[in-house]
Amino acid sequence: MIIVMNNSATEEHIENVLNKIKEKGLEGTVSKGTEKTVIGAVGDERLLDPELLQSLPGVEQALSIVKPYKIVGREWHPKDTVVDVKGHLIGGNHIQIISGPCSVETPEQMRKSADGVKAAGVKLMRGGAFKPRSSPYSFQGAGMDGLDMFRKAANDSGLPMVTELLDVRHLDAFLEKKVDVIQIGTRNMQNFELLKEVGKVNVPVILKRGMSATISEWLMAAEYIAIGGNHNIIFCERGIRTFETAYRNVLDVTAIPVLKKETHLPVIVDPSHAGGKAFMVSALSRAAIAAGADGLLVEMHPNPCEAWCDADQAITPEELKSLMKELTAIAKVLGRSISE
Ligand code: PEP
Ligand code: MN
Repeated sequence: MIIVMNNSATEEHIENVLNKIKEKGLEGTVSKGTEKTVIGAVGDERLLDPELLQSLPGVEQALSIVKPYKIVGREWHPKDTVVDVKGHLIGGNHIQIISGPCSVETPEQMRKSADGVKAAGVKLMRGGAFKPRSSPYSFQGAGMDGLDMFRKAANDSGLPMVTELLDVRHLDAFLEKKVDVIQIGTRNMQNFELLKEVGKVNVPVILKRGMSATISEWLMAAEYIAIGGNHNIIFCERGIRTFETAYRNVLDVTAIPVLKKETHLPVIVDPSHAGGKAFMVSALSRAAIAAGADGLLVEMHPNPCEAWCDADQAITPEELKSLMKELTAIAKVLGRSISE
């Protein structure tokens, strides 16, 4: 960390800063320039709080040198991490598509959805049993029955199941039902107690970006999971809130290369919640893969007009199939493959 002293800093102020640095087990070195004095603190700088240092008399600015996200950051782990979901790889050279309905509705709908997922050549299935709806009067998801319906459809089709965990009280049931990937939704990205709990389990986690979260907040949220020992984390960009009202959210394509530079973990994109309308899904999906995303989370319903949740944005099984063809071609151009 670099601590810049202000013009009126005295020897006593400098000594005080050096003592604080020493207290935390770091070493301080003073460099006196003609105008300003700068103190370099060497050691584990995460132990030093820049805000606390900035509050000391004589201090103008305290600047961190290393990234605060030590486990998820590429700085410490340059090689891409590949997450393995029951033999299906995500990250590195492997692109993985995940598709299925917004919510689990009925056993038949789940069976038809699984058929559509498989027919398109998609290897992982999504579906929410617990739904975080904006209105308490809207369908809240089929709950535990939904988990059972999903488990059955997943077993019958051989597709691993991806489903959202809303509440820490449901985690044991998720483990009991052997949920293959736990999804943390946009509204829970900074539910730190939930993040800590999923950090302790041995199940891959999709961490969606908070709808108004910065890249740095998102990376720190992942660090909350990683610190518990679970390093199988997949970031999912799902659109952010802006001033624009013509679509549900704005897909932040820029986040893809930026995040991939900052972290070794896979980055996928949810084009469905980003645009909020089915007609945008294929364009946003193509953009995401072209920009380097490691996969997609796409809402597909066997009969979108009858979907109980997010009907506007669900694509049909046929549309998923043709989207897969386009994505396979884009992946090939990039020297990547849509993985088995
Ligand atoms: C979802 O994927 O079902 C969902 C609710 O998404 P988000 O958390 O991105 O709104
Ligand atoms: Mn949805």
